[in-house]
Amino acid sequence: MVIKMKIKIAICGFKGKMGQCIYNYFKNIDTIEILSLIDTKVSKDDEKQYTNYKIYNNLSNEALENVDSMIDFTTPNAVLNNILTALNNNVNCIIGTTGLSDEQIKIIETITKEKNLFTLIAPNFSIGAILMMKFSKIAAQYMQNVEIIEMHHDTKIDAPSGTALSTAKLISNENIKNNNEEKILLDGVRGGKHLNINIHSVRLPGFLARQDVIFGLLGQTLTISHNTISREAFLPGIELAIKKSVQQKGFYFGLEKLMNLTF
Ligand code: NAP
Repeated sequence: MVIKMKIKIAICGFKGKMGQCIYNYFKNIDTIEILSLIDTKVSKDDEKQYTNYKIYNNLSNEALENVDSMIDFTTPNAVLNNILTALNNNVNCIIGTTGLSDEQIKIIETITKEKNLFTLIAPNFSIGAILMMKFSKIAAQYMQNVEIIEMHHDTKIDAPSGTALSTAKLISNENIKNNNEEKILLDGVRGGKHLNINIHSVRLPGFLARQDVIFGLLGQTLTISHNTISREAFLPGIELAIKKSVQQKGFYFGLEKLMNLTF
C-alpha cells in the first residue's frame, strides 16, 4: 500500500479576507495539511478557536518547522520579510500579496535559485483570468481593433486594475488600431490609453472583479469576458501552486508559468 504524504503548509495572513478563504478551503482538503497559521491580528480568542494548529502573530523559524510551503496573502510591507524568512528555513513560497518591486522580486528569484527551492509570485491566481488573457492574445493577432472594460467593487483603490494593464501589455502589437479622430464632448469618455489600447474602469457595488476584452472587425465583434464572483475563484490556482511547489524547483512569476501556457 502506498501512503501518500500530505503537503504541509503555513498560511501567512490567515485572518485577512483571502487568508480566511484559503484556511476554510484547505482545512478540508485531504492531500494538504495546515501546520501553522500566522497573522499580526492573532488574539487570545484565536488560540481557543484554532486549537488544531500552531498559531503565531509573526512568521518565526518555529512557525515554519516541518512546513513544505508557505502561502502569503498579507501586505506589501510584510511580504518580503516573510519570503526571506521562509527561504532561509528552506520552505517553498506561494505569494499572492501584491506590491513587490522589481528589485525585491529579483532578490527573491536569486535566493530561491541559490537554495534550490520553489517560489511562485502570482499577481492573479484566477485560472479563468489567465485563460482570458491567453485567448485575448490569440484574438489580437486577427482582430486589431480592441478595447478593455474592467469592472470592480467600489472600494478598489487603484484604477485601472493590474489585470487590465497586463492584458493590454500582452495583446499589444504593432497592428493594434484605435479610432482617435472622434470629437470628444466629455473628458475621459473614451477611457485611458495604455499601449494604444483604451481601458475603461467601472467601480460599482455588486461587482467583485470582471473584465471584458472587446474586439471589433468588419461586421462582427468578439467579447472575451471573465467574471470573478467570489474570492473562491483564486483557490484552484492556489491549490495547483501548492501541488507544484513540492514537485518542481525554480522561480516563477505568474500562474501561467505553472499551466504550461506560453504568452
Ligand atoms: P487583508 O484582508 O488586509 O488581509 C491581510 C492580513 O495579513 C491581515 O489580517 C493583516 O493584519 C495580516 N498581516 C499583515 N502583516 C502581516 C505579517 N507580517 N504577518 C502575518 N500577517 C500579517 O487583505 P486581503 O484582501 O486578504 O489581500 C491580501 C493581499 O493579497 C493583498 O496584497 C491583495 O492585493 C492580494 N491579493 C492577491 C490576489 C491574487 O490573486 N494574487 C487575490 C486577492 C488578493 P493587519 O490588518 O493587522 O495588518
